[in-house]
Amino acid sequence: MSAPLNLPQLEAVHHVQGPCLVLAGAGSGKTRVITHKIAHLIQLGLAPERIAAITFTNKAAAEMRERAKQLVGKSAQKVLICTFHALGVRMLRQNGEVLGLKKNFSILDTDDVTSILKDAGGSSDLATARKWQWAISLWKNQGLNAAMAEAQAQSDNERITARIMARYEERLSAYQSVDFDDLIGLPLKLLQQHADVCEAWQQQMGHVLVDEYQDTSATQYEMLKLLVGERARFTAVGDDDQSIYGWRGATLDNLQKLPVDFPALKLVKLEQNYRSTGAILQAANNVIGPNPKLFPKTLFSEWGPGEPVRVSDADNEEHEAERIVLRIQSLRAGTDTGVGLGQWRDWKHFAVLYRANHQSRVLEQAFRKAAIPYKVSGGQSFFDRAEIRDLCAWLRLWVNNDDDPAFLRCVTTPKRGIGHTTLQKLGEFASQYRISLFEAVFSHSLISVLPPRAVDSLQAFGNEINDLQFRARHTQGSEAALALLLQWLKDIQYEKHLYDNEDSDKLAAARWTNVLDFVDWMAKRCGGEVDDAAGVSLVSEAKSLLEVAQTIALLSALSDRENEQDVVTLSTLHAAKGLEWPHVMLAGVNEGLLPFKPEEDGVSSQQDALNLTRIQEERRLMYVGITRAQRSLLVSWSKRRKKGREMVNAMPSRFIAEMALDVATTKEDPREKLRALRAEFALKVEAEKALADKAAHKA
Ligand code: ATP
Ligand code: MG
Repeated sequence: MSAPLNLPQLEAVHHVQGPCLVLAGAGSGKTRVITHKIAHLIQLGLAPERIAAITFTNKAAAEMRERAKQLVGKSAQKVLICTFHALGVRMLRQNGEVLGLKKNFSILDTDDVTSILKDAGGSSDLATARKWQWAISLWKNQGLNAAMAEAQAQSDNERITARIMARYEERLSAYQSVDFDDLIGLPLKLLQQHADVCEAWQQQMGHVLVDEYQDTSATQYEMLKLLVGERARFTAVGDDDQSIYGWRGATLDNLQKLPVDFPALKLVKLEQNYRSTGAILQAANNVIGPNPKLFPKTLFSEWGPGEPVRVSDADNEEHEAERIVLRIQSLRAGTDTGVGLGQWRDWKHFAVLYRANHQSRVLEQAFRKAAIPYKVSGGQSFFDRAEIRDLCAWLRLWVNNDDDPAFLRCVTTPKRGIGHTTLQKLGEFASQYRISLFEAVFSHSLISVLPPRAVDSLQAFGNEINDLQFRARHTQGSEAALALLLQWLKDIQYEKHLYDNEDSDKLAAARWTNVLDFVDWMAKRCGGEVDDAAGVSLVSEAKSLLEVAQTIALLSALSDRENEQDVVTLSTLHAAKGLEWPHVMLAGVNEGLLPFKPEEDGVSSQQDALNLTRIQEERRLMYVGITRAQRSLLVSWSKRRKKGREMVNAMPSRFIAEMALDVATTKEDPREKLRALRAEFALKVEAEKALADKAAHKA
């Protein structure tokens, strides 16, 4: 049985008639309040489908669903547990038509967006397109459209970007597509401009719970306000010290506004940290100390001081990775002194966290060399792989024929003899008549701009899509879906395409395995056998393949069950938010990396002010990192770092000094290394012996 809630936690759980804000430091049981409150609301008789719990990632949603299920059983499955974006999809699917959006709209990913922007802005440079994308995304998060952005533009550059935004928006609407920001912006518009829709949603929402509230954007906050309406039955939980998405438009103003916008707000503070030992908590409190506070907070732990936090200074990044490996091995083997580690020895009890994605490379190499199983989270996702993106483009085109970016990818992957010139002519024709590429294919006058052979092959492609679409709509249940998907792969000769285009058969085989995993997983979702990680539709409903295909763009992980694997986690600090591990190692805690310093940093006074807010956000990131640790924490930096091709001297992060640890840097001890190697060897021998015994026993 899980431990009981403490008094303030109970207070937050039992406050169900009005608005409630739980504001507390890391590891104090905020997320736990949310899961228990879901259970409590159901026990009070609120229908589970009238409860919405909004999490920050799909993974967090899956975890929360699992915990809620443990508390209240099957009815937890009907609770809408999802991200703001997934809720947005649901709202647009239900009511988007009043905004002129077809039910089968596509959701574009970042790559589609940059290529549309290149086209809209007339540039082939990816970096430029990315800059536009950032600017536009920030505007959208502030609730600005192109005209508003242009009106408030401060420079020529901003004015130009605003005009590109206008063209970008035109294209999106022609493609019946939305980007990630629209998944918040459009539902907001829906609630603001259509009173009947707004009222219906307010009726539907018996109680809304929001985790990681400090990282909501201005538009998400507006959406929340409209969803809960006057009755304001909601629970937000958050920690201003863990706000780490300011760069993406999240704003702490939302925390400040809450008591003003909702005078009846009940504020609950949690002060006991149940996650970390005293030493870890002390380091965390010391680091966050210098940051200005929105609300004063204190945190204490009853676990006792525990093992002191360690700092390790390595000669370079390779050496750093090696020492991290050693640390893991010696903790597992129990040769490390002190830490009462009996039950914390599985691989899954360890995490190595770092500031930037690229830092995982050296670590991965060291892990492979030492045969330590690991997974990288927060890096390239399964859905970013070329083969999966190919297939997703096909699925998108089945769902939405107007999706031009998907059309272009499918018609050329695998190659089917339709060349660039043909596509260019088709594109010109389509934009002249303001129709989609797909529509253009079947237009009678296409023959006036293209030779008959080209028209024939385009139409053959179009018919193929129509046929697939028809079959997908009528395919329900996992077996039928699997049969259809496999037949489709065969028809388009996708396996051959992989082998033809990959440098080695081994690589092609690996990609083909991914493809098979993907179709298997898609098929299972059609049978309702897999939890809908995006939370867009209710679990365990049988869905048509077409319905499943529409939500693909929202997902970033194939399996919700990755937590159960016994592997070490390598993760960026951002992706580690909300999670916890017995042993945490922070790697690359160097000036320049954490706090991160962009290369082009200038010295103007305006930038100084910017720098200050940036450093404060980096400090919160360090605080998030430290507070992921339950039992042991190692903070590691290296004396030399690679910068481009050169090796340069590097400094420890200022945050290490700010932790104000009692013990200075621990030096590498060769005896420790020997002990670790011996212990690891002993474990291996033991494992082999156990296997041999088992085999002998069977025989
Ligand atoms: P973060 O700020 O990192 O998101 P949080 O405030 O959401 O943290 P939780 O993840 O809910 O904290 O809880 C941290 C740990 O403390 C979890 O392992 C949880 O099970 C445990 N915990 C929370 N409340 C209690 C309690 N009342 N008694 C015992 N353990 C608790
Ligand atoms: Mg939490």
